[in-house]
This record gives sequence, structure tokens and C-alpha cells, in this order.
Amino acid sequence: MTAAFPPVLPTYNRTPLRFVRGEGSWLYEADGTRYLDLTSGIAVNALGHAHPDLVATLTTQAQALWHVSNLYEIPAQEQLAQALVDATFADTVFFTNSGTEAAELAIKMVRKYWHDAGTPRDTILTFEGAFHGRSTGAIAAAGSEKMTKGFGPLMPGFKSLAWGDHDALRAALDGTVAAVMIEPIQGEGGIRPVPDHCLKGLRDLCQQTGALLVLDEVQCGMGRTGRLFAHEWAGITPDIMMVAKGIGGGFPLGAVLATAKAASGMGAGTHGSTYGGNPLACAVGAKVMEIITAEGFLDNVRRKGAMLRQSLEGLVAAHPDVLAEVRGAGLLLGLKCHVLNTDMVKAAQAARLLTVPAADNVIRLLPPLTISEDEISQAIARLDQAARQLS
Ligand SMILES: *Cc1c(COP(=O)(O)O)cnc(C)c1O
Repeated sequence: MTAAFPPVLPTYNRTPLRFVRGEGSWLYEADGTRYLDLTSGIAVNALGHAHPDLVATLTTQAQALWHVSNLYEIPAQEQLAQALVDATFADTVFFTNSGTEAAELAIKMVRKYWHDAGTPRDTILTFEGAFHGRSTGAIAAAGSEKMTKGFGPLMPGFKSLAWGDHDALRAALDGTVAAVMIEPIQGEGGIRPVPDHCLKGLRDLCQQTGALLVLDEVQCGMGRTGRLFAHEWAGITPDIMMVAKGIGGGFPLGAVLATAKAASGMGAGTHGSTYGGNPLACAVGAKVMEIITAEGFLDNVRRKGAMLRQSLEGLVAAHPDVLAEVRGAGLLLGLKCHVLNTDMVKAAQAARLLTVPAADNVIRLLPPLTISEDEISQAIARLDQAARQLS
């Protein structure tokens, strides 16, 4: 007899909580115990759990048509693509089922662009602390020992630079670089924002050298920072952008947005997906997009983000032995801890509040964008309780 191996591949250290129902900002266990959810499935449930409009859209579409191949025209896909094109820098969109798949296409698009340019460039610059997914390409892009160890040989063509080292960036970003891939705010890396002037400087450097600018807005996009996409704060636009997480509001959906120039090599047969852009996902995605871009919605995200941030600054001041600082933008906030971040997550959980750990000893607060002011007050009271416990 060999030792029992769990039927679910044990790649996650799971918390022993089993939720059976969600409503708005709350998750419920079978016995009715409820938790205030500041994880949103890691920035996925942008409109909270079981948003009535999303449930109605999904149900109606489920009764009509779930899936057809991309061999046929899919009106919901065209509608969502048009909405994204209208609202952004992009001329064109490809739909995926995840952020990782979006990263894979972004990398392929960069390579094809330079192949077709007739002056091949191989190197994509990335940054320490980055997270672009778990595929062979995405782990090679991130380059961290934690994600790549044991999975070599790594896909070549990436060079990882130190975070915030402008001299290293200027030295590396010459006329041989194909693209720079960066998260405007690192999520897994510990809610580390790229300052607006740095993003502007990076855009300029890319312009001068011809390198494509690829932004990974999988976590920070779709309204999370109080603008539809985080790069809008810096007043710049990328050539290619990866989106996922919030775009489906909980239904698996991702996208690559690109300018016509960056996408020029991606003709028929160069890429594909069985499920990407299916009618169910795109119907839900179109509804999410409609709600997030409706008059006043992002104003509310900014207002609630400012309110949450101010309260968190107060908590840091009240518990200087436990909490170090607040980071991030809008409702993508991080609390750097003096205690172990995982202890803070556990203490918050004991107070029935769910948060997510990140690198750099940070806990992430990613509430639904629809969180109410009262729920923000409740979250602060619970975090205060957790911090007092650890003090
Ligand atoms: C989550 C995430 C990904 C990967 O997305 P999946 O849907 O898990 O494949 C890529 N980039 C960033 C910035 C992310 O936060």
C-alpha cells in the first residue's frame, strides 16, 4: 500500500473554511456563520457575490446558448470587444479564460511583432516580484526562484530587473529589447505601485527604443483602482494589456487588448482557444463592463477607496507595533505588517474578516467594488480587533 495521496492535488495550503453561499460582500458557511469578504476571490468578484444583474444575465444566457466554437461568429464576444475598444487605448481584443492565458498570448504577440518586423528582438524585460501566472511562459517571465524551482529548463527570452532600479532599467532597455512587461501595481508582489512618473518615463523609454509596453492589469484593472484601468492615472497607454479576474465578475474570463500595430502579426491561424470568448462568459463580461462603466460607479470606488485608506491609516497609527504602512490605490490596498502577515490574516479571520496575504509581509484588502460604507466600518472594526489581539 502506498501512502494516500489526496484526490485534490495538494498545491494549495487551504484554510479549513467551506463556504456554501455568497451575497454582496459576505460569504456564508453551512451553519450560517458569515464572513466579511475583503478577498473577492482575489479581485475576481468585482461586483460582490451573486450580484442580481449578473445572476439574471448568466441564467438567461444559460437557457439560450452556452458554447459555440470560435469557428462561428459570437455576437456577445463582438459586443464586449467593442465596449473594451471604446473605453480604452485598444483597437482589438482576444478573449481567454484566465490571466495566465492572456500572458501567453501577450508574449506570443510580442514575438510575432518582432518576427514580422524583420529585425527580430528576443528579450522581454520583467521585474522582480512580478506575477504573470503559472504557465511555463509566465513563470519564466516572473523569474522568481519560488515559482520556477524544479520546473526548468525555463523558456528563454526574459530578463528580470530589480524593482525600482532606474539605472538598471535604462541600461537594459536598449534597441534590442522586444518589450517591457509590468504590472502598474504589483499584486502578489505586495501591492507595490509603480509611481505615475515612473510609468510615464517607462512609456517614453519604450517609445525611444521601439520596445512594446505590455501592461499586466489582471489584478489592478477593471475599476479596482478607481479608474477603469490603473495606467489611466499616469496618463499613458500601453501597446498590449492583459486583463482577467474582475472582468468576468466571477465567471472565468480574460482578455488581451492591443493596438492594431502591436497585433498586426496575429492573423488567422496564429492563435486560438476552444473556450475563450464563449457566449456565457461574454454575456456576463458585457454586463460587468456595463455596470463598471456606468455613470458614477468609478466615482464611488474612488470615494470608498479613500474612506478605507483613511481608516487604515488610522489603524496603522493606533497599532504601530503590528502594522507598518498602507499601500495601493482605490480598493486595491495593502497593509504592510510588523507581525507576520499570515498571523494578521488568521487574526482577522478569527474576527470573521477575510483578507489575502501577499509578498513583502503584506496583507491585501480587495473588497468587492460594491462594498458599502457601513461594511467598510465593520471591516475596520474587525481589523482593529485583530490588531489588538496581536499587539
Ligand atoms: C492572477 C494574476 C495572473 C494570473 O491569472 P490567472 O487567471 O490566475 O491565470 C496574472 N497576472 C496578475 C497580475 C495576476 O494578479
